[in-house]
Amino acid sequence: MTDLKTDNFQRPIISLRISITNRCNIRCFYCHHDGILPQEYEMTSQEIERISVIAKSIGIKKIRLSGGEPLIREDIIEIIKRISSLGFQDVSLTTNGILLEEYALKLKDSGLNRVNVSFDTLNPQTYRFITKSNYIDHVKRGIKKAAEVGLYPVKVNMVVMKGLNHDEIWDMFQFCKENGAILQIIELLKTESCPDSDFFEDYHYDMNIIEEELKDKATDIKTRAFMQDRKKYFLEGGEIEVVRPMDNTKFCKNCTRLRITPDGKLKPCLLRNDNLVDLMEPIRRGDSDEKLVKLFLEAITNREPYYGGC
Ligand code: SAM
Repeated sequence: MTDLKTDNFQRPIISLRISITNRCNIRCFYCHHDGILPQEYEMTSQEIERISVIAKSIGIKKIRLSGGEPLIREDIIEIIKRISSLGFQDVSLTTNGILLEEYALKLKDSGLNRVNVSFDTLNPQTYRFITKSNYIDHVKRGIKKAAEVGLYPVKVNMVVMKGLNHDEIWDMFQFCKENGAILQIIELLKTESCPDSDFFEDYHYDMNIIEEELKDKATDIKTRAFMQDRKKYFLEGGEIEVVRPMDNTKFCKNCTRLRITPDGKLKPCLLRNDNLVDLMEPIRRGDSDEKLVKLFLEAITNREPYYGGC
């Protein structure tokens, strides 16, 4: 087994989040686009596979596909097949769920382990306001189907926003329990790639309020050390995970992730775009695996905790 690589702050690099497209079928007003600036070019499935092979050779254990919306790529099943045949501990995908009902079984059969579905509200008007679309029922059916076909666990990512959906957490928890999913509530994050920065002041919700409530109700609380120190609350026959990235030094201290942009650049931090390392040019000119490993190591060396704390 390959040893894990560690950055200059003693953080092991366990997972790789590959953004396979910048395109999306909805327009969430707060979207940080996984910290990625607009790009024309998308990697081919072969290029994604090559990158995954190198990632595996330096000890990366987990791959997550993201975007944009990964399910709008026509070759998504081929991409999953190529990656899952490489023997990672975990291959997962983050989706807005709109195409999930159609794809769930094919994704499972091609080797995907699990999905996170971004779904912020059960209210059709609020859904329309957030996404500028009417796909709410598609997403609900997608979540149900994903759980049915055994993509496990199905997690629902709910970004909590003041005055918009902060009072829906318990309803969403209920919905998740009924449909075999785990609720993950996420603090709204301000990033440079957000189209309109005013939204943050208007909608940022203080997660301490909900965490206090969760502490009171929980029968057990666990901390996921290698997952940015997230807290998991067990209550009422279900669980709620809380993700708090903003100004969170523990979030950085426990970050074990590297990212790839849709045009094939290694991205050491969600919140920065000034220290990317290009893989595409070297791959296209036929550079050796050894050279690509060196580029991975350069990106790992570039990793610095954005909010400090290491
Ligand atoms: N299209 C896919 C989806 O909807 O899950 C993948 C891309 S989306 C950028 C990945 C995740 O980032 C989603 O769960 C989304 O809710 C979250 N996200 C986007 N902008 C955010 C922000 N400003 N603060 C917190 N989470 C955000």
